[in-house]
Amino acid sequence: MDGQIHTKTYDYTMLEHMPIGVALFDSQDLGLLAANTLFHTFIDTFLDPTWKNGRAIGHSIIEYLPKAKETGVVAIFRRVAKTGIPYSAGEFAFSGCERGITYWNWTLDPIRDSDGRVVQLIQTATEITAQVLARQEAERVHAALSQTNRIAETGRKRLEVIETVAHSVRESLDADNISMAAIKAVNTCFDALYIYIHIANSNQKTLDLLHIHPVPAKKPSFSSVQHIPYDSSFPIAQAYKQHNPIIIEDLQTAPSLGIIDSSNALVMSGAHGYTCVPLWFGDTFEGTLTAVFKECISEDGPEVQALVGSGMYIAAALAHARLHRTVEHERRRLRAVLDQLPEGILITEASNGCISYANAAAANILGIPVTSLTGIPLNRHPQILTLIHDALPVPQAGLPAAGTSNYPQAAYKENIATRINNHPIFPWHFAVIRALGGETISSQEAMVVRPDGNKVITLSSSAPLRIEGGDITGAVIVFQDVTAQKSIEQQKNEFLSIASHELRTPITAIQGFAEILQMNATQEQSLSPQSLRALTFINEQSQSLTRLIEEMLDLTRIENAQLLLNLAPHDLISTIKHVIETQATAGANHNFQLVPEGLQDTDTLIGVFDENRFVQVLNNLISNAIKYSPAGSRIEVGLRYSPTTPHEALIWVKDSGIGIAANELPHIFKRFHRASGLDRSISGLGIGLYLVQEVVTRHRGRVWAESTEGSGSTFYVRLPLKSKQA
Ligand code: ADP
Repeated sequence: MDGQIHTKTYDYTMLEHMPIGVALFDSQDLGLLAANTLFHTFIDTFLDPTWKNGRAIGHSIIEYLPKAKETGVVAIFRRVAKTGIPYSAGEFAFSGCERGITYWNWTLDPIRDSDGRVVQLIQTATEITAQVLARQEAERVHAALSQTNRIAETGRKRLEVIETVAHSVRESLDADNISMAAIKAVNTCFDALYIYIHIANSNQKTLDLLHIHPVPAKKPSFSSVQHIPYDSSFPIAQAYKQHNPIIIEDLQTAPSLGIIDSSNALVMSGAHGYTCVPLWFGDTFEGTLTAVFKECISEDGPEVQALVGSGMYIAAALAHARLHRTVEHERRRLRAVLDQLPEGILITEASNGCISYANAAAANILGIPVTSLTGIPLNRHPQILTLIHDALPVPQAGLPAAGTSNYPQAAYKENIATRINNHPIFPWHFAVIRALGGETISSQEAMVVRPDGNKVITLSSSAPLRIEGGDITGAVIVFQDVTAQKSIEQQKNEFLSIASHELRTPITAIQGFAEILQMNATQEQSLSPQSLRALTFINEQSQSLTRLIEEMLDLTRIENAQLLLNLAPHDLISTIKHVIETQATAGANHNFQLVPEGLQDTDTLIGVFDENRFVQVLNNLISNAIKYSPAGSRIEVGLRYSPTTPHEALIWVKDSGIGIAANELPHIFKRFHRASGLDRSISGLGIGLYLVQEVVTRHRGRVWAESTEGSGSTFYVRLPLKSKQA
């Protein structure tokens, strides 16, 4: 008996400490017979205060928990009591509690008597609210994460498409290739019914179909989209007008919304999604990218996002290709012009010194095929190097016989100057180097000996080739074959030389005899005044003819490098005074003035110069002053010496005559140049100032003129006092 009592005590103790609530019900009236503390704790949260703390014992569930009926719990109790089939509920939500909804796992098992009748019901209940809420929270977080993942996945896909498109179109400079690459890239990422690209034809104001994929089986179905005028009602044209993508989520419902015509081939084809992205590069419209989908699309879906994103890259690539096409077109035009020019042209690259371009004329003049000229640096070009070696005579002592050689003096001088350590350097090398340094050099003469042995005299100019921003990328040499002109010039010089020589003898004789006759006639007074005047005239004219012939001879001397100076110390003041005295006798009608500055009349100013040549310079300047100014006017001959510049003197000849027009001034020192508006009765050949300049330059001096038309001219000569032959 005692053992029984103990066993029961143990049972209660166990029930009390079980982690689940346990309660025993009467199967008939569902009265609560017994329950452990945990069950009471659970159930108390649902109970009215009057039923709490075990006061429900002995009462039916219907009494103390009326909500149990509404929530179907009572029905479950009754069913188990009736059928004897145990009930088990997982995660049962019960809302009657002051804590709101609580969740329970509970079971209801029948207890049978010895006859098998259900007499009692035993309920176990475990509250799992905390676990359920934790799970629900986990599910909510999971759902949110999935949503974020979906967005991220859409974004990733969009970026993947854009990246594929950007990568595919980046390299190409051809619109065809760009559109094919773009379509292929989009197509690998989306299952589109059609993808096509139209290119903007800004002249015709149409969008011309560039590529469509796949090409529709029925031609007529896409012939209507081959050329779409900007002002048509096609969505493609609308995309251009609106500047924004046209997105039709469902083509099938679009006609009813008035977005597209129901007869549109795409609507008829049963397609759903449609996107047309206008391709704008800055302010320039390049075309459109269109995609048609089997399924409906949404504005923020991956297809639209990816196509819009790719559009930027396709537009940029198409713009790049268009600009490249334009530049290429211009380049070809320029190339065609250069190819046709009669002047030879060589272009040398700054990066490697190679000749990157030679035109047909260059090949023709140099006698080297175009293909052999290009791709090799000018200074290492084997054939161009032979041109120099053959062209340059090794300079021995002195100059070659001048005037007789058919080797032009200018070319000779040029080539002599371009020998370094007796190694010939083709003048063009220097021209290229100087051009790459930013200099422009014009009219440089050089001789080349072509591979066929023919000698060609070239006149070349070179200049730097700059890109925007001013950086030099290369040098261009333009040259022409002046052999024929040089030969004519040579012949002319030879003729001048011979003619002057031949004329000098008879004129000297005429002048000599005229002087003798004049002298005799004056002494004997045997001639009439008229004959005496004639003799004087003959004398004067033959003197001026002699001067002219001397000038012509000087000209040929300069051409043949024979005008050499006889330098010696002389008193500059007395030379000038002497010239003025002589000129004053000849030009008695003018009023001559010597103006010394920084010097006394009695001073001497010793300089090393060629006296005869310097007298010639002064004579030329003074006779011009006489010739081009009215009789009786003043002619000032000035000489300035300053101790601050002790190595030079400044000489000037100033008249108040007709003056020189500003546009003529830069030309008056050129050979044979005479001012255009000049009274042609004033004799002259236009050689005098040329000779003046040559002589002064050879003394390492400088000559220049200042003049105002109608108010006279001043010619200045800056003469070094210790001249060396230039
Ligand atoms: P020319 O034999 O014609 O005088 P020059 O070579 O001496 O030849 O002079 C060239 C040109 O310069 C002249 O034809 C003239 O037009 C102009 N010229 C030279 N000196 C003067 C001057 N003192 N006054 C005005 N014009 C001058």
